[in-house]
Amino acid sequence: MIDRYQNIAPKGDLILLNKLGEHFRDRSFLHINSTKEGGGVAEILQRMIPLMADIGIDARWDVINGDDKFFDITKRIHNAIQGNPQKFTKSMWDYHFDVNKRNLSDLALEADAYLIHDPQPLPLIEFRENGTWIWRCHIDASNPYGDVCDQLIRYCKKYDSAIFSMPSFARAMGISEFIIPPSIDPLSEKNRELSADEIQGTMDKFNLDPERPMILQVSRFDRFKDPIGVIQAYRLVKKYNDCVLVLAGSPASDDPEGAEVLNEVKEFASDDPDIHILLLPPFSDKDINALQRAATIVMQKSLKEGFGLTVSEAMWKGKPVIGGATGGIPLQIVHRYTGFLVRTAEGAAFRIRQFLNNPVMIERMGEQGREYVRNNFLLTRQTRDYLSVWYTIENGDRPMFNI
Ligand code: UDP
Repeated sequence: MIDRYQNIAPKGDLILLNKLGEHFRDRSFLHINSTKEGGGVAEILQRMIPLMADIGIDARWDVINGDDKFFDITKRIHNAIQGNPQKFTKSMWDYHFDVNKRNLSDLALEADAYLIHDPQPLPLIEFRENGTWIWRCHIDASNPYGDVCDQLIRYCKKYDSAIFSMPSFARAMGISEFIIPPSIDPLSEKNRELSADEIQGTMDKFNLDPERPMILQVSRFDRFKDPIGVIQAYRLVKKYNDCVLVLAGSPASDDPEGAEVLNEVKEFASDDPDIHILLLPPFSDKDINALQRAATIVMQKSLKEGFGLTVSEAMWKGKPVIGGATGGIPLQIVHRYTGFLVRTAEGAAFRIRQFLNNPVMIERMGEQGREYVRNNFLLTRQTRDYLSVWYTIENGDRPMFNI
């Protein structure tokens, strides 16, 4: 499998990855998160497990289960980390812990290294018996609300290390911390090259006219993704330029707010026939790929964003992206070079019009975006980085092997 990345991913990443695979051959690496589908974490893990296995590591992925009450609490934790006011009681924190404890009977906690993703399974550290434990925070923790982080830090301190996507999300917790941005897999169904017929098939399926300029946002229906702001921007543009807006999203099993937000969006869109709200079933990767390839401009107008995989996905397809100037989006969008960063619906509308009126700029920024993703945000680089952290924890200050 790793051979398939030759001529796609940077050569140095592949050399180092193979070397790390040799070093860790047959040792076990267990990822744990809280959903197999929906959202960026599951998206990456689906692809990273086979890649790690391919280079010789015994890679596994387990999911903790919870009920509605648990996911309501963890969504509140998520929202508070992203700065949204939330109230927590001791019994909520106790429930968070108890559900993790209940999961122990279904989890085989026998690995050489554990990568625990996000706050849902964070308390599992209390049951640590062996191995290296690393906590991976995917959330924009730059400006959390109240003492939510203090509650989480008591667990974090027991890990060997923590990984964040951006320096501004990290905080001194007394353990080693690393900055590792997420990534996309150029070979996945979501990102592979598609034929013109495959793209047309998706356009037909959703009744979309390929002749008209299409503005696309692919996101869970979450207020932090600002779907309402995207519609506002589209309405401003529509006064001057013809275009259609496509908002595509599917539910995530660990996000209980989706249905409510979807209703808000539908109501706000009213009966405009040029706004297409596409509720996609999980694993609609090919359709999303086709929509991103068919789009004229891709939006990710988030108000808070851990990383925003959809930005790199679109850039990889040579699309100009307009994204909210928040969280991990500015890592990917180099303003005026690979796309535009915006803060308001008016700003977004201005940039959409700038693109619609300048196809040469669309092409240029799209190409630059693709190369930027190649050099920075491919799966091979992220896997290399995770394994390097494991290596560093196990080997302390000893020099890295020669390559
Ligand atoms: N996604 C998807 N179907 C949808 C909406 C999103 O497959 O209906 C994918 C999207 O292509 C991306 C991931 O889910 O790969 C979302 O990751 P991102 O980092 O953008 O946001 P998150 O959902 O993790 O906040």
